[in-house]
Amino acid sequence: MNTPAGLRVLILGGTGEARALAGTLATGLAAAPGGRVVTSLAGRVARPRLPAGETRIGGFGGPVGLARWLRAERIDTVVDATHPFATRISASALTACADVAVPLLVLRRPGWLAGPGDDWHRVADLATAAAALPGLGRRVMLTTGRQSLAAFAHLDGLFFLIRTIDPAAAPLPADRVLLLDRGPYTVDGELALLRTHRIDVLVTKDSGGRQTAAKLVAARRLGLPVLMVDRSPAPTSVATVATEEAALHWLARLRAGSAVE
Ligand code: NAP
Repeated sequence: MNTPAGLRVLILGGTGEARALAGTLATGLAAAPGGRVVTSLAGRVARPRLPAGETRIGGFGGPVGLARWLRAERIDTVVDATHPFATRISASALTACADVAVPLLVLRRPGWLAGPGDDWHRVADLATAAAALPGLGRRVMLTTGRQSLAAFAHLDGLFFLIRTIDPAAAPLPADRVLLLDRGPYTVDGELALLRTHRIDVLVTKDSGGRQTAAKLVAARRLGLPVLMVDRSPAPTSVATVATEEAALHWLARLRAGSAVE
């Protein structure tokens, strides 16, 4: 596949898709005069997996700061490849790109779909998940991320196996085991974990993707219910693709159709 040449691209990252796209673009654009690929990370993870190309770390200071940065760096286009639950940076990108008239593409992996044998309970948010939990099980595997744990902290009488990439901070549920790990995970590994801790319900966000889907297969095999926290709907006013390949096509079309200096 031809990668577009000469574009100055900002990738809002923090996902495997963002890393993959940066890798492909950095190779294609490195030799192209004027081309540049910068991946931006929030700085939440202590030891992030760094993408190819340039990296910048830390918030921009809201949409105004992002717009200022886009202008100063003379960025041609932004790809928002952030996690589907990273809603603030996505909203910021929408506003900033509109303000400085920079084309924006959202690269958003599809959500997971339940199949035969799955016992999924979809909920709108973390608070609803917490309210529903006592009716579904007593021993919970919680994989909703470090920033979500306060929503479950008040649930006395339930055991929690909490898996996060970086250490979790209080408030936390009282009866808990903290597990630091980072995908990709295997079905065998997830089955072993669920069995070892005698888990009877799994709580996850609908992150989508393959890296962390093994827990869903394992839960199905063990007949466990899954509380699935839904995503917010994606904005309809912005170009959105689901794969790296589609993002590359979009960028190639942009490059072909635009008079980039
Ligand atoms: P968020 O709530 O949407 O963003 C909060 C603030 O963090 C933003 O307003 C922005 O600060 C800064 N920020 C977020 N992503 C950034 C990026 N890629 N580059 C520069 N600044 C960024 O985001 P979040 O849910 O905390 O997620 C943070 C990062 O972790 C994202 O990059 C996301 O892709 C990744 N991630 C998130 C999840 C999740 O479940 N939420 C899971 C895996 C990975 P300013 O307003 O100052 O610009």
